[in-house]
Amino acid sequence: MKCSKCKYELNEGAYYCGNCGYPVNQNQQSLPQQKTVPQPISQNNPNLVSKSITPAPKPLGGKKATAALIFGLLGLVLWILPPLGVLNGFLAIIFGTQTLNSDKKRYALVGLIVGGISMLVSIMLIGGSIIPG
Ligand SMILES: [Zn+2]
Repeated sequence: MKCSKCKYELNEGAYYCGNCGYPVNQNQQSLPQQKTVPQPISQNNPNLVSKSITPAPKPLGGKKATAALIFGLLGLVLWILPPLGVLNGFLAIIFGTQTLNSDKKRYALVGLIVGGISMLVSIMLIGGSIIPG
């Protein structure tokens, strides 16, 4: 190879030109350090969110809020059968509290209130049937 400045014939592996002292551009030893850029980890992984046991900070109401409303309304009927009334009221309260801050909070609130009332009535009925007088 030759010096890039003065075209002087250089020895293989020379760092500087023997003629003019110009630093030799050695391609083999001046490899640019290619730092592999790590790909950013996507923080929005839907798979991790969907099956989480703990409720999300801001849940979407959706089916749970509707379920709270349905269980609450069912509790109005099922308080006649106290165990089912308690179960319905309990489920209505659970779903209602979980979706109280969601977009369907009216459903959740109605289900929560109605379910709570029906559960109280059912519990009172159970208590009345167990405790005589
Ligand atoms: Zn040179």
